[in-house]
Amino acid sequence: MNKCPVCKKNFCNENNNGLCLNCGWDSDYYSAGMTRSEEIRFKTKLKIARRNWKIIISSIKETRALKPQAS
Ligand SMILES: [Zn+2]
Repeated sequence: MNKCPVCKKNFCNENNNGLCLNCGWDSDYYSAGMTRSEEIRFKTKLKIARRNWKIIISSIKETRALKPQAS
């Protein structure tokens, strides 16, 4: 069981091809033996994914706050 580096949820690699069901992060980027340039690319990608995830989360919260509870 891995922890998603983007949304911090636990996810299981075997069940979903390494994709986080919560945010869609691909844990295959974690593959061992990254070269220096691959590592830099990975970190950039992770930073963007985390930023995007924060935006998604805050927009969901905003939508919930603005909309009255549907019955
Ligand atoms: Zn995730």
